[in-house]
Amino acid sequence: MTSARYRLGDRWFKGNTHIHSTVSDGGKTFAQLERMYAAKGYDFLFRTDHWHASDVRAGAQGGKLLWMDGIELDGQDQTGAAFHIIGLGTFRGIDRAAGLEKGIEAIRAQGGLLIMAHPFWMANTPDDVRRWRFDGVEVYNHICQWMNGKGDGLVHWHVALAQNPRTLALAVDDAHIIPEHPGWNGAWVMVNAAACAPEAILEALRDGRFYSTCGPELKSIECRDGKVLVQTSPVRFIRLVGPATHGRCVGAFHGKLMTGATFDVPSDWPFAYLEVEDSHGRRAWTNAL
Ligand SMILES: [Zn+2]
Ligand SMILES: [Zn+2]
Repeated sequence: MTSARYRLGDRWFKGNTHIHSTVSDGGKTFAQLERMYAAKGYDFLFRTDHWHASDVRAGAQGGKLLWMDGIELDGQDQTGAAFHIIGLGTFRGIDRAAGLEKGIEAIRAQGGLLIMAHPFWMANTPDDVRRWRFDGVEVYNHICQWMNGKGDGLVHWHVALAQNPRTLALAVDDAHIIPEHPGWNGAWVMVNAAACAPEAILEALRDGRFYSTCGPELKSIECRDGKVLVQTSPVRFIRLVGPATHGRCVGAFHGKLMTGATFDVPSDWPFAYLEVEDSHGRRAWTNAL
């Protein structure tokens, strides 16, 4: 297997692709969010307020981190299934009155990334995943996890991977930072990009050159000669995950923590990705290699 996704050399940038501000139902202004997230080592944040296509160029950039444009849509499609959908990119002409499907069309027509948000929490079905051929699926949503334990989207991601192995996996905060939903900095992406600039970050996200995490750090990911080599912060388990029952695992419940592993990647698996888990049960995921 060769990989164009995790080539070495570029820098890793910490970011979040799902955040709310006082523009919709969040509790913090952009300036407050910028101070908070920059203090936790973030390099970029997407603005994804409900039905509000942001325009970061219209406002002053504070300089502590890079702001990127996005939006969150909600509503039902023609089948009656309810969705929340994140669009990453700069959009015009998206109007709540026109409905969800028009919003999805606008995101696609304007070159945005279409992400299925918190599908477990929405009770989305496998058919819902396949119908819209999303560019990515939220595999972990921090606020949904906190509210009722439905933050995982791994099963939905697997449905999407079976249809398209390039489908992206994203771990996100969905931060609102209000008394009812106080959590933030619980899940983020680390993007392997040439620079922390809008085009470079979006291109790396689109190509899948990032990993998603609730804490563990992947220091390097290297694919060559049918093998994948990964180096991590100390973790308890490292898994190579394939479709259905396929997988490889190293680690132990009561053993020493590990900081790396090498796996042979079977050439007959349609996709494979890495999952690591630390001693607190916090996980991180690559995209399909
Ligand atoms: Zn939502
Ligand atoms: Zn949201």
